[in-house]
Amino acid sequence: MTDKKMPVLFVGHGSPMNAIEDNEFSQGWYAVGKALPKPKAILCVSAHWETWGTLVTAMEKPKTIHDFGGFPPELYAARYPAPGSPWLAKEVKKMVCSIEVGLDKDWGLDHGCWSVLKQMYPDADIPVAQLSLDYTQQGLNHYNLAKELAPLRDQGVLILGSGNMVHNLRRVVIPNNDFSNFNQPFALEWAKQADGIFKKLINAGSFEALADYHSLGEAVQLAVPTPEHYFPMLYALALKTEEDTITYFNNKPLAGSLTMTSLLIQ
Ligand code: ZN
Repeated sequence: MTDKKMPVLFVGHGSPMNAIEDNEFSQGWYAVGKALPKPKAILCVSAHWETWGTLVTAMEKPKTIHDFGGFPPELYAARYPAPGSPWLAKEVKKMVCSIEVGLDKDWGLDHGCWSVLKQMYPDADIPVAQLSLDYTQQGLNHYNLAKELAPLRDQGVLILGSGNMVHNLRRVVIPNNDFSNFNQPFALEWAKQADGIFKKLINAGSFEALADYHSLGEAVQLAVPTPEHYFPMLYALALKTEEDTITYFNNKPLAGSLTMTSLLIQ
């Protein structure tokens, strides 16, 4: 446990198989988990929980949600039995003044959240709450909402955005059509361009320009055909202070149209 300001993470989660595979990405998550001070609780903003309005999970024991299809039985057998955090849910509700955040008792942990945490904190002993993405809101609204969560960093809470910066499943190209090649580094030309645009704006601190992603040209439109995997990054960037620096990890493209590129802000 720590009294220092907690770091903030954006993690590219990629395939749900990363939950149970020992590969370079899951090893990257494990290494980050080892390196960070142990959080008191984790607030995860996952690409895979979109709702009307903004909700935060408030149950004592969130269930593991297997929100995917066509994977082997061992992935469906996997569980992440971390406790929930009704305390954190109430803090979030109290802290966010611009909107009314609803307390949720139905969701749980979707794979955007648990696939990463299972590798990062395998003991599942840190309480976790999820914050949903309101699908009626634009990028700048998400970015501004995230800023209201800043005091959590001083309360030992790790805020974790989980998505993928470049994420276009309709354009996936797997080398030789062999799924075992899925994690091989490979980017289509537009994906490389979008990755470059994102990094340039991240490095320049131009986060509001990133929030207005519709204005960033054709390559970015292909990289962000729908925004749910992109918005979790805005939540992480919004919490960067002047003193923080940004470190990239798992900085790789795969399957032509995805990037695993992740950010540690501390
Ligand atoms: Zn996903």
